[in-house]
Amino acid sequence: MIQKFKSLILEYLFPSGCAVCGSMLLDKEDAWYGLCGDCRRSFKIEKTERCSLCGRPLISEQGTCLACRELAAAETLPAYDKLISLYPYSGGDFAGNSGSYLKLLGSYKFGKRLSLGRFFADKVYEALAMLSISESENPELVPVPPRPGKLRKTGWDQIEYLARFLKKREGEAGSLKVERCLKRLPSETQKKLDRETRKSNLKGRIVVKGKVPKTAVLFDDVITTGSTMDACAAALKESGTEKVYGICLFYD
Ligand SMILES: [Zn+2]
Ligand SMILES: [Zn+2]
Repeated sequence: MIQKFKSLILEYLFPSGCAVCGSMLLDKEDAWYGLCGDCRRSFKIEKTERCSLCGRPLISEQGTCLACRELAAAETLPAYDKLISLYPYSGGDFAGNSGSYLKLLGSYKFGKRLSLGRFFADKVYEALAMLSISESENPELVPVPPRPGKLRKTGWDQIEYLARFLKKREGEAGSLKVERCLKRLPSETQKKLDRETRKSNLKGRIVVKGKVPKTAVLFDDVITTGSTMDACAAALKESGTEKVYGICLFYD
């Protein structure tokens, strides 16, 4: 709490320019997002055909990507129904600037440029529009829970912070409710594990607290193998959620 307050004050006192290109943020809107207009425009979402399962843009495939087709063949399809993944984590941006996505995520996740949460909240809504979920499905947003101890250790969790920005939009026309109904129990860090081990590592480690929505839209910052999303979706479905969508800001 104190740490968060301190970084907010620091950001207020020492505005450090655009989180990606470092240019001065003179415009009110630029300061609001922590990103200059040029950078915001360069992070537009590619409106190409996407894999119906993992949401990554398709290159020469149709319908589902090769990686997801392999999962289908091995009958290890994930528990989620459909994902949208927005930005290539390590790729160049729309304008061809390499490394800018990494910088965008890094400034938020590690540099704690909190105002970027607003930008990402906008992107979550853009992704929602791309998922075209009907209102009658009663979708609600569900954050992917952080590993226990993360908040204590680093003072914040980037997804929880994004959830707060999304929560502020509750009640606006077309907005969704944010339901923090998942909790993560201690497990080994996923980073160094392969897909299968990741999956078993998370087995039973995601638990439901409270009421689950009929239709859930999970959101997370990065998708690698999809096993975290998978485990969250499985936990929700075991508790009665009928359909699970997912939004990942970055994919690698
Ligand atoms: Zn910029
Ligand atoms: Zn795929």
